[in-house]
Amino acid sequence: MKVAIFSSQSFDRKYLTQANQEYGYDIHFYKTNLTRQTVNLANGFPVVSCFVTDELDAQVIETLCQQGTKLIALRSAGFNHVDLTAARHYGLTVTRVPAYSPYAVAEFAVGLILSLNRKIHRAYARVRDHNFSLEGLLGFDIHGKTVGIIGTGMIGQVFCQIMQGFGVNLLGYDVAENAECLKLGLVYTSLAEMYAHADIISLHCPLTPDTYHLINAEALGKMKPEVMLINTGRGGLVDTQALIAAMKTGRIGALGMDVYEEEEGMFFHDLSASIIQDDIFSRLQTFPNVLITGHQAFFTQEALTHIASTTLKNIQQFEQGTLSETLVI
Ligand code: NAD
Repeated sequence: MKVAIFSSQSFDRKYLTQANQEYGYDIHFYKTNLTRQTVNLANGFPVVSCFVTDELDAQVIETLCQQGTKLIALRSAGFNHVDLTAARHYGLTVTRVPAYSPYAVAEFAVGLILSLNRKIHRAYARVRDHNFSLEGLLGFDIHGKTVGIIGTGMIGQVFCQIMQGFGVNLLGYDVAENAECLKLGLVYTSLAEMYAHADIISLHCPLTPDTYHLINAEALGKMKPEVMLINTGRGGLVDTQALIAAMKTGRIGALGMDVYEEEEGMFFHDLSASIIQDDIFSRLQTFPNVLITGHQAFFTQEALTHIASTTLKNIQQFEQGTLSETLVI
């Protein structure tokens, strides 16, 4: 079976090549992302494997169908970049990797909290410059603080488990309660109640029409002054303009974000020699209490191993006609 892997970076090649020892597929790696301009590279491939950076709109899907593709095997959990209506219309099956490592993302969120609180990222740069002053590096004990978790699914639950070890009060908001979080002492509240009491708020819900710009000016206005906000969920959960306004008044004490609403075309690329055209992003970077990373929370050896093996297993099950319903979208 011929498989075209788009948006493949060095780590994709390493982990997929390793996993493919068990399957023996004829894999072709393309560094470029899949777009209307590059879709011809998939000509004659019954399977294409895509990442969140690929543009699977109706036109690309129609061309894939005409060129003989039958399966789009996503290497991500999210699928908001795929026109599923078009995929159904042209008879293409789309699979995904629903859960790879909740630990990867939850641990990263905790890392952002620790770095921002104790200013480790600033201390690193300072000490390299032989500046050993502690001015401006004051943090607080996390112990005894109140932590709000929005979205208590797989990642939210692991985050809850880790934060419980710090001895914090845990508040949760979700459309469905998680019994494991309740066992850890998490108390479900309304968003308003969480905003009023939480010293740290971490976002772990999906981006849906209901959660788009959940954190807007009104929500930010209800939060405790100097709250720490952590977003490893999706950029669209937060209204970035409102966030900047709240940063300027000091309402937000610290912001950690691994995702950004307009990250497409920017994150996952080396733009160090380019001029960034996004003024909102550039403004965010000027705040000393903001720590931004480029969508790397998922990026662990375990997660990559799982993504590679599940993607190839999905292809095998598709071939054998045994694909589980939960993997098809
Ligand atoms: P999950 O499906 O296990 O959990 C999501 C939780 O959000 C569920 O409990 C669900 O009930 C809840 N939820 C749904 N709608 C909600 C709403 N309107 N308000 C509040 N809660 C709501 O998913 P997960 O594996 O824990 O992943 C959570 C999110 O993390 C993903 O949707 C994705 O956007 C993000 N993510 C980010 C990275 C990264 O690298 N930064 C990697 C993986 C996942």
